Formats: sequence, structure tokens, C-alpha cells
Amino acid sequence: MNRPPSSPVNPRICILGGGFAGLYSALALAKIQLLEQWQIVVIDQTDRFEFSPLLYELISGELEAWEVAPPYLQLLRNERINFYCDRIEGINLEARQVQLRDRGPLGYTYLIIALGLEGRVPPHPDVLSFRRLADVQRLEAELQRLQHEPSLDISIVGAGASGVELACKLADRLGDRHQIHLIHRGPQLLPGFSPPTRKAAEGAINKRRIRLSLNTNVKAIQHQGDFQLQLQQQGKFFKETSHLVIWTAGTEISPLIRSLPGGDRGQLSVTPELQLSRYPEVFVLGDLAATPLANTAQVAYQQAPHLAKNLQSYVFQGSLKPFRYRHLGEMLTLGIHNGVVHSFGITIKGRLGNLIRTLVYIQRLPTLRQSLRVLAHRLKLALPWTKP
Ligand SMILES: Cc1cc2nc3c(=O)[nH]c(=O)nc-3n(C[C@H](O)[C@H](O)[C@H](O)COP(=O)(O)OP(=O)(O)OC[C@H]3O[C@@H](n4cnc5c(N)ncnc54)[C@H](O)[C@@H]3O)c2cc1C
Repeated sequence: MNRPPSSPVNPRICILGGGFAGLYSALALAKIQLLEQWQIVVIDQTDRFEFSPLLYELISGELEAWEVAPPYLQLLRNERINFYCDRIEGINLEARQVQLRDRGPLGYTYLIIALGLEGRVPPHPDVLSFRRLADVQRLEAELQRLQHEPSLDISIVGAGASGVELACKLADRLGDRHQIHLIHRGPQLLPGFSPPTRKAAEGAINKRRIRLSLNTNVKAIQHQGDFQLQLQQQGKFFKETSHLVIWTAGTEISPLIRSLPGGDRGQLSVTPELQLSRYPEVFVLGDLAATPLANTAQVAYQQAPHLAKNLQSYVFQGSLKPFRYRHLGEMLTLGIHNGVVHSFGITIKGRLGNLIRTLVYIQRLPTLRQSLRVLAHRLKLALPWTKP
């Protein structure tokens, strides 16, 4: 395998994407003393890190945007990491250069590609997505617009974690005013989740009168005033009308990644050490890396410190280790102050499940400072003697 160039001039580690994989890698790399002379640059098209597992709490009002999506510049204030808010438009692996929309070309010594996946484009432009903070804001604007409707018909496509969690939160927010229909192509909800988690989710769905249709395909969507959906279930076609349609199913590879060698086949193939096989100075992790693992923040979160150690070993000619994932369990929010945690054979549901999930996520916010700020704010709101 190629060895790294010895003592490059102006060594630079470029990290493409500031999500779970990219940002947490940067933070781990910045802690390595031997890399002190190295410039670490994180590039992301948005100016905020988004902690996606907690986006639902913005719809229910349980958390605030600054807690779930803190600005990078604030997070990285005390870190030796440069943040560029820019769009990456090209990656030239031969020239070791990335092309940024505003800043132009940027050379690198080592490259970490952590650009994640994109949500599948819904079949109609007025259908909402639910992946990013901007999607939450768009949904919130729609809910405000429709706030005087006596009853809201909402169709949510996809009963994976996002669809189920969003349906339960929306149901609790709207109370008796909702008619939520959760539409899923497969034979069971929450594919890939354990039976206890699925059972807890089914209980939450039934309790909230959410209509669940399994084995159901969305064949067409039209929008004239309301949405008209054409659905197909077991060979039969039927129609329904909704005020809102939210698409949570499926992911796609961005055209930028498709233009890379092997990118036309989907996620990028990596070695067990998370390197691109023909380009060992390039590491790939998170959702974009083709591994047998699920595309989760939990995987990206564990890959980040591993990658930092491997990159250090690569720079200093040590031996790299294959990444090994340790599954710690599953956590879902299932409505306001309701959740489930299933870990090492133990299932905790309800308010306690939700509390554990929230505390674990607060602890996993990118910096200790952000975790403490959020925790202090939450305690202040919860404790009666701290209220004005
Ligand atoms: C709503 C939702 C809830 C989720 N809940 C959970 C959960 O409870 N538990 C769990 O384990 N996982 C959860 N996930 C999955 C988890 O968020 C992903 O697996 C994780 O974010 C992957 O990390 P990543 O760094 O690979 O990609 P991302 O976090 O998607 O980060 C990629 C970054 O790259 C940036 N980017 C992309 N293209 C460009 C470009 N051309 N130029 C500049 N920047 C670019 C994006 O802005 C983004 O910040 C959830 C996902 C969603 C959408």
C-alpha cells in the first residue's frame, strides 16, 4: 500500500461534510497532539451542525433549534479546526483537490469524505421531506398555515424510524385534530429494528389512532388545493386526500459522489480500515461508506474516533486497524415525553425511556460545552425553584 508523503509542506486534512461522521472526526483529530502542525478544515454547505435524531423535538416544542442545531462557528470556537461554509462541487482524487463553489479549488494532503446520503426526491415538489432543519422549518410553516383547519389529514410515507417517530410527535402535537396515515411499502414497520422496539412503536401508534397501511405503494401524487394520493394495496387501487404529505422513505447518492470512481454503484466501497482502496490517503465514513452496517448516527459516531486513530497511524507509518462496530441498542421517540430504549436485552418504555434517550443524546452532542449548555437549560426549565 502507498505510504504517505514525508513531511508535506502545509499539510492539510480536508473533511467534506460536517455531519456525525465529519464533525466528530474533526474533533477527534484535533485532540491528537502529533497532528498539531496540521491544518484541519471542515467544509459543509450549511452553517449549523444538525443532530438529526432530535429534529422531531423541534416539531413538538420539547427542544429548541439552538440545542439541536448549533452553529459550527460556535461549536468550534475553542477548537483548532477551520470551518468553511461552502458547497463542495467537485472532488479530483488524482490532483488531490476539491472544488468549492465560493472559495474555488482547495488542495489536500488527506481527505475525509463524509457527505452522507440525500433523501429520495419525493414524487411531487410540494410533498415535504423530513431530513434536515430546513425541512422542519418548512413543515412548521405548513402547520402554522393550516392551524385553523378543524381536522388535519396528514399522509406520511415510510414507516421506518423517521416516519414512525414523526407520526407520533405530530399526533401528540395536534391532539384530536389529527388524521394521520402512515403508509409503508413493506410488510412490517421499522425494518431492521428488534421485536420489543417494534412492539412499543405499534402500541404508540395504536394509542394515538394513527392509521398504518402496510404493503402499500404510493403510485401517484397530485396537488390541487389538497393532495390526492393514488395508492395500491394487494393489487387494489384506491385514492385518498390529504392536507399534507411528508415523504420519509429512501435515500439517494448525490451526483457529486456518483462522479467519483465506483460512485455509480452507490455508496463508496471502502477497506475495513475505511480507506478508498485505490486512494489510501482518502478515508470515507458515515452513511456514504458501503459497509454491511445500517446507516445510523451510531455507526458514524463510532467510526469517527477510529478513523482519527487510523489517519494518525497512516501519517506516522503505523499499522491501521479495521473498524469494528459495537451495537449499543436502539432508541426511538414515540410521542411527546414518550419513548423506547432497547439495549442489551432490556427494554425501557414510556417517560423513563424518553428521558434516558434524551440524556444520552445530550451527552452525545458534539462538544462538552454544548452538552452542558443544553443540560443546564433543561434543568432550569424543569426545576420549579429556578423559574422566575
Ligand atoms: C430525521 C432523522 C432522524 C435520525 N435519527 C437517528 C437516530 O435516532 N439514531 C441514529 O443512529 N441515526 C439516526 N439518523 C441517521 C443519522 O442521522 C445518519 O446516519 C447520520 O447523520 C450519518 O452521518 P454522516 O456524517 O454520514 O451524514 P450526515 O449527518 O448527513 O452529514 C453529511 C453532511 O454533509 C453535508 N453535505 C452534503 N453534501 C454537501 C456538499 N455538496 N457540499 C457541502 N456539504 C455537503 C451536509 O450538509 C451534512 O451536514 C436519523 C436521520 C434522520 C434524517
